[in-house]
Amino acid sequence: ARLTEKGVALYSPELEADHQRRFQMLVDFRSALESPDQLRLEYQPRISTRSGETVGAEALLRWAHPKWGNISPAEFIPIIEQTQLAKQLTEWVMQAATEQASRWQANGLNLCISVNISASNLEETDLVERLLAAMRRHDLPVSSIEVELTESALVDYSPIASNQLDALLEAGIRVAIDDFGTGYSSLAYLQEIPAQVVKIDRTFIQRIEQEKRSRTLVKAMISMAHDLGYSVVAEGVEDHQTYAFLDGLGCDEVQGYFVSKPLPANQFEQWLETSTP
Ligand code: C2E
Ligand code: CA
Ligand code: CA
Ligand code: CA
Repeated sequence: ARLTEKGVALYSPELEADHQRRFQMLVDFRSALESPDQLRLEYQPRISTRSGETVGAEALLRWAHPKWGNISPAEFIPIIEQTQLAKQLTEWVMQAATEQASRWQANGLNLCISVNISASNLEETDLVERLLAAMRRHDLPVSSIEVELTESALVDYSPIASNQLDALLEAGIRVAIDDFGTGYSSLAYLQEIPAQVVKIDRTFIQRIEQEKRSRTLVKAMISMAHDLGYSVVAEGVEDHQTYAFLDGLGCDEVQGYFVSKPLPANQFEQWLETSTP
């Protein structure tokens, strides 16, 4: 960076462009929250290996930006997460997911929707209260919503976060440890945290086909998680061999392109009709 006469730093054009995009994103996300058609959820089925049935769906946020088109959540969520907007983002997702769950319940579809919650959301003292209020508004049973939190959110938590986790447990809402295996070298936390589901990260699952070591690792993870009383979901299952391998190890549920990519609600319903035996 060079300094101008006035002492203002001039950054490299790339850095400047990146900075501006992030800034613009924060400004535009505020409008997106108010807009009827920029944000939407897609649903990726979770199927039981035992019955082959679709038992639930993960809600994944999509943003159709008016100028930039579809932006990946992997790009915009980490930026939003660092700001106060994280609360509104998750509020939007909770509202949309509970509405969808209630529509599905009304149509006789007993699907559990998993909602991704950021670590920073756990610092909101009223997070669980708001989730429960949204569920009550739609007359939903506690079994219709599950919460996904990353390992880091579940390990480095504050007293507030700890209260929120206890509140989830008390309400009977299931908590899944997302991206399991990527965050922490110590697994001691598995003895303590109030979670019921382990979601093995797709980086492990996707190496199953090529690497014996990954097969060994996944086998050990499933066995350990089961011994500790967790239910196990594998994410990122892309082919039949991987599915069969996981099924053979007693992995409870799978998610991934082998089953279906994430779909808008109406396409999800069509998929469900054609895929149900
Ligand atoms: P995640 O929670 O680990 O979600 C799984 C990601 O893997 C999704 O990417 C999904 O589309 C993708 N995926 C599913 N099956 C396969 C597969 O077989 N192969 C491959 N290569 N990928 C697969 P997506 O939708 O782009 O979301 C990326 C991340 O953004 C999510 O990772 C999650 O961390 C975050 N995210 C998405 N929606 C929300 C949300 O509503 N709230 C929060 N806090 N984070 C969200
Ligand atoms: Ca089976
Ligand atoms: Ca997730
Ligand atoms: Ca994940």
